[in-house]
Amino acid sequence: MRTLSLKLLPVLTCLLFPAKAEAPKLIDGQIVLEAEQSSGGKILTYKSGSLLGVTLDRSCEVNFEKARDACIEWTPETPLPAGWWHGVVESNFKGGYVNRDISIKMMGGLNPSVFVASNYIYVEKGEDQRFEFWIHTTVPSEHIRIDPKGDLWRWNKTWPVSRITLTQASPTELAAKDAIAMELPVADDGEVALPFPLPIGNWFVGGYMRKPGEVEVEGSEGKVILLSLRLDRWRKPRVYSAPFYIRTPLERVTVKTQGLFSSVLLRHKAGRALKDINVEGELAVTVDPERSIIGTLELHGENLKGEAPSFPRVPFGKKNVVLTSWDDGKPSDLRCAQILVKHGYRPTFLLNGNSPALEFMDQLEALGAEIGSHAYSHTALGTLSPEQALEYCTSMRLLLENRLGHPVISFAYPNGYSPSQDEEGDYVLRAVRDAGYWVARTQLTREQTIEDVDEPLLMRSIGLWGSGNKMLNAAWPRFVETDAGVFYLKGHSWQIGKSDAQWEKFEKFVAQFANNPASWYPTNGEFALWLWARNTVALKVEKGDAHATTVKLERPWLHPWLAERCPLTLELPDGVTSVTWKGREIPVTDGRVDLSWVN
Ligand SMILES: [Zn+2]
Repeated sequence: MRTLSLKLLPVLTCLLFPAKAEAPKLIDGQIVLEAEQSSGGKILTYKSGSLLGVTLDRSCEVNFEKARDACIEWTPETPLPAGWWHGVVESNFKGGYVNRDISIKMMGGLNPSVFVASNYIYVEKGEDQRFEFWIHTTVPSEHIRIDPKGDLWRWNKTWPVSRITLTQASPTELAAKDAIAMELPVADDGEVALPFPLPIGNWFVGGYMRKPGEVEVEGSEGKVILLSLRLDRWRKPRVYSAPFYIRTPLERVTVKTQGLFSSVLLRHKAGRALKDINVEGELAVTVDPERSIIGTLELHGENLKGEAPSFPRVPFGKKNVVLTSWDDGKPSDLRCAQILVKHGYRPTFLLNGNSPALEFMDQLEALGAEIGSHAYSHTALGTLSPEQALEYCTSMRLLLENRLGHPVISFAYPNGYSPSQDEEGDYVLRAVRDAGYWVARTQLTREQTIEDVDEPLLMRSIGLWGSGNKMLNAAWPRFVETDAGVFYLKGHSWQIGKSDAQWEKFEKFVAQFANNPASWYPTNGEFALWLWARNTVALKVEKGDAHATTVKLERPWLHPWLAERCPLTLELPDGVTSVTWKGREIPVTDGRVDLSWVN
């Protein structure tokens, strides 16, 4: 996304206005909050002197000493009465993309807020920037505040607000295109009185919580979605919420856990018009459970007891696994791949539908890297409808398969794994599974062993190159001592930097974990194939005596391109001295054989 860097616009000047003495007033059910009446923020004007608006300055950073006082805030002459408000945010900035990663909050009660960016609607260049929303409050609002969301400053993203108009309103219905935030009281029996059926689409429900609990929501067709709300790992009491998608108008919200909330927050995300995706073709079939593939293994030796070989935890006689994957498909992926490969890694690169790396995927593959998907667009899947989430996962796999001519099985969640519920459960994980991926990496971190990877579609890493370097360094000595440990470094090559010195720093860092003789360095897909083979390949002793054991290996049909890459290491029973596989003698190394289904 192109963003506006206000710092670089030469026609602007910045002025810090003292807050106007005169507070905004509610007149005839309407209050107009002018830029100059705000506290905090920075007033921007064009050189001509005309107002651009008030924008957030660095004083709104979370760690700023007086963050509470410094955010842009308006204090009406008297608190605004509870009830419905229709809001319009205007900017004198003309059109095009700007980041509006901010929320507008009515301060009082649970501070219901709407997020501007997540309700983003593209404005043509030259058009006025304008954002509309609906807010319902249960207690009077003493202030109206603009709060930054996320990492606003690093990218210079901001949006000058010239005016906010709030109008008392009594809607009788709202539409799927409306950005809505509501605070509503919860009755003693847990029921929340909704004013009217609420629009379909992506919602959040939550409230101030001291304990975990459950909330049930129901659409007009009577399908119920049960939402579990948990405290964070520090069990800190604060406002928590759970996302869901409702296909029919929302008619009922019931708090199932006694005393969970006294009032509930409901936030609706307006649907953003999505680009049409036109990727033709069919996804590759990776497995066919209807077709069995059988291979025969003959074990020869002395004093054999008719035992079958077994799968070790890690193939090729290795003790543990090192994985690395890189998101977003930027031009710097190639240099990143060259360095990683030079040090013995087998990196996986995860691309979007508009990634520059689409143009040099063949070079990445030639280096031994794997190409995977980061979804068609970088939108968090949990903010899409279940159908869109599936389409974004499927289309990107198809696009890559069309160009590469072989199956694509690895994925990384854009913006991290953000589960959201529909009436059948978490539709984000379901979309990734239904699109046919075998392994998917989240933004979650943990030190783990192979057994901890119980759901390969929710893989965790140890840390992110850059911010996670300390964590990775601390984990490495523990990892080298761990049997079947999984050391996973994730990153973005665009974060490495532009200067040679930065790349040298990167190379020095990754070299620390490279070429460990006890470690296996597969791509994500090869790792997934190994997990699959260990769980799926059946080993059956057909016949045996003291000198020979015949073992049948059976698995479902696997796409030949994958079968070629599927590790198949077996540990041999005691006494085995030689092995034939599909009629040919193969080498025995340290009591194991490394088989291949293909050749
Ligand atoms: Zn990404």
